[in-house]
Amino acid sequence: MTTKLASPKKQPKQGMLDNVMRQFDNAADIITLNPNIRKILEVTNNELVVHFPVRMDNGEVEVFTGYRVQHNNALGPYKGGLRYHETVDIDAARALAMWMTWKTSLAGLPYGGAKGGIQLDPKKYSDTELERITRRFTYALGDNIGPELDIPAPDVNTNPQTMAWILDTYMSTKPPAERSTNMHVVTGKPIGAGGSEGRDRATGYGVFLTIKFWAERKNVELKDKKFIVQGFGNVGYWTSHFLEKEGAVLTAVQDASGTILNENGISAEGLLAFSESNNRSIGGFADARPIESSEFFGLDCDIIVPAALGNQITAENAQRIKAYLIAEGANGPTDVEAEKILLNKGIEIIPDILCNSGGVIGSYFEWLQNRNGEIWQLDEVMAKLEKKLKESFSKVMETAKSRKVDMRTAAFIIAIERLEKAYVQRGIFP
Ligand code: GLU
Repeated sequence: MTTKLASPKKQPKQGMLDNVMRQFDNAADIITLNPNIRKILEVTNNELVVHFPVRMDNGEVEVFTGYRVQHNNALGPYKGGLRYHETVDIDAARALAMWMTWKTSLAGLPYGGAKGGIQLDPKKYSDTELERITRRFTYALGDNIGPELDIPAPDVNTNPQTMAWILDTYMSTKPPAERSTNMHVVTGKPIGAGGSEGRDRATGYGVFLTIKFWAERKNVELKDKKFIVQGFGNVGYWTSHFLEKEGAVLTAVQDASGTILNENGISAEGLLAFSESNNRSIGGFADARPIESSEFFGLDCDIIVPAALGNQITAENAQRIKAYLIAEGANGPTDVEAEKILLNKGIEIIPDILCNSGGVIGSYFEWLQNRNGEIWQLDEVMAKLEKKLKESFSKVMETAKSRKVDMRTAAFIIAIERLEKAYVQRGIFP
């Protein structure tokens, strides 16, 4: 396939790509990764950039740029979300695709890693425009995605509706006999259109579970603990919902529209209802007061859940953090310099590739159900998710202990070693 661009190593180092490469290098050095396998893993397999025209509601045509980067498929089909955001570019897609490879490998799934999306601000477009943009993007991706090749899913600013449009467009281009056997070309679909029970809450439930497992190991009671959340999309909301059920108190939330604080607690359900009626923004919520956005990470609290974009916790704000646990609902929210500062201060980080892996695990369950013509009940999905996450969590804790490393390094070591083994056993064609 595709437009092959220069490898990530040859690109200027910055942002999320720099972050993921440094995380990879750190773990690869510790395990003295086979140098040939290192060469393979530090570049992406395929990179597709598409420009496509879409007619807007006012009759004018706009041209959009979409991306799909397939990092690695040694363990199975490429897997990962599609993001609609102004920050989506080739380097962001590369970084996020790499994180997916480590995430699926750590979770023990039969998948590789990919990521993509469209560079746009979805708030500027109507629903009918977003539908046409999504359908035309899917058409442009063509046979570079597929149920056994590369399986997209929701990510920032995409949702089950987006996935339903992708499914319908993909199916419409297939011969009749293949249309109903290709449901698993995309995951995170609405339940009525081949989606799975529980996929909506899978990421947030997983973030909550990893916090719970961590607290159990440390003998920390979650009841009455204060937590703050950056981003109140699917991950931020569901994480808050489950932490609240455990008795923890949501005291501050930040999104692009503002930062709000209420030391006595913000109701996750109340905030969700408000944001749904407020163009998915939290700014203006009546039961909390607005504060300066720069105050957010330094707020007095126990747990911080970054659940928005990458590179949010930096050397600049890490110094001010008072929480003792950071649970990464987002991908790449903590940069490498910030992480050094936090670890020095004794603050622990449940790394993204473990913390938010409930999402892709939920996707795997949906894919399996579609592939096998099965329908699982919610409690079955949630129990399977908990079992899988518990296994990953324990492995990370054991590796951190035996290797005397932090949790992120441990998670990377497990992920990379699984891939190394696959390459050693298979060899390199020809
Ligand atoms: N976008 C989610 C992630 O970053 C889910 C990916 C998937 O389900 O394939 O993990």
